Amino acid sequence: MSKEQLTTRQEHGEAIARTENQIRRIDAKTYLVKSQAGNGEYCVCKSEDEWRCECPDHVYRHMKCKHIFAVEFSTSFRAEVAITRIEPIENLTECIYCGSSNIVKDGVRKNKSGNIQIFYCKDCERYFTFNIGFERMKHNPQAVTSAMQLYFSGESLRNTMKSLKLLGVEVSYRTILNWIRKYVKLMKNYVETITPNVSDTWRADEIYIKVKGDMKYLFAMMDDETRFWIAQEVAETKYTHDARTLFQMSKQLMGKQPKTIITDGLMSYHDAYKKEYWTLKGPRTEHIRKITFGGKHENNKMERFNGEIRDREKTMRGLKTKDTPILSGYQIFHNYIRPHEGLDGKTPAEACGIEVKGKNKWMTLIQNASQKHSGYSQ
Ligand SMILES: [Zn+2]
Ligand SMILES: [Zn+2]
Repeated sequence: MSKEQLTTRQEHGEAIARTENQIRRIDAKTYLVKSQAGNGEYCVCKSEDEWRCECPDHVYRHMKCKHIFAVEFSTSFRAEVAITRIEPIENLTECIYCGSSNIVKDGVRKNKSGNIQIFYCKDCERYFTFNIGFERMKHNPQAVTSAMQLYFSGESLRNTMKSLKLLGVEVSYRTILNWIRKYVKLMKNYVETITPNVSDTWRADEIYIKVKGDMKYLFAMMDDETRFWIAQEVAETKYTHDARTLFQMSKQLMGKQPKTIITDGLMSYHDAYKKEYWTLKGPRTEHIRKITFGGKHENNKMERFNGEIRDREKTMRGLKTKDTPILSGYQIFHNYIRPHEGLDGKTPAEACGIEVKGKNKWMTLIQNASQKHSGYSQ
């Protein structure tokens, strides 16, 4: 589609949105769109749920101008760019031992919470169950994934234990912690192989947490637009911590660096920015330091996130060491499982183009993670 053929404002808007470096996001309600005549930028702002633009077309003719269309298009692109679908694995087509497709179903085995399909391989003459990710577990996948859902949505270990008991599953809190450790590690390795399509504005912040009764700081990097929790690190102190690893890790995991990084006034962020994100050649990452807690709107997101972690402080007593899988578990829960109000009920991963399918997302993640891990494919 060449520029000459464009007739409507909508088409012009889409063309602007599809061209590099035409739109700059300031925050969810403020964008700067380059004037197509080549002189400066127009500010497109949302107020009372309606987009307004500074351009003459909008101001004098009261039209929904191409800049507004451009902003609308650009926000809908992200999810459309590359959608990764993680599907539940519902059936086996190959023998888990020899890979032969010469397998038959051979009845079901009754289990406390349901039936498990048994397969028989006619080539290697072995029996196996369809229970990917849970093969050698004494307890069923439903119990394990329910435990994770309860625990990460804020229940204490004790309450999680009680709820499982009502479901007919009697386990100790130690068993639950072991499940969490085992499966969070598996899922973490797996999700790190998928690159989410995060925006170009990131936010770093630090919050208090208790590890083994001591106050520590959780340093976190978040994507501003999708709320995807990019990376994290636990530090002893706030003021002497070197934030460089967090910045480096974020860049590596996302496969890019942001156009804008927003932090508070902490000196270590500035050092990390200079060492990890500052480049001699453009386009250069911009560092915005919010020294004071001005602009309420701006800080809402991080405060909500802090609340999300703090609400769970009591359940964090399980934290024994800095590299605890518990925090990685929260990260997976936050990114892939929990629908986010600010994202119209989508998960941050979905906002980044990663869709986890199936009724039980924990199950889908574990199945895919363990299949990838064991190396055989369906
Ligand atoms: Zn306009
Ligand atoms: Zn076989």
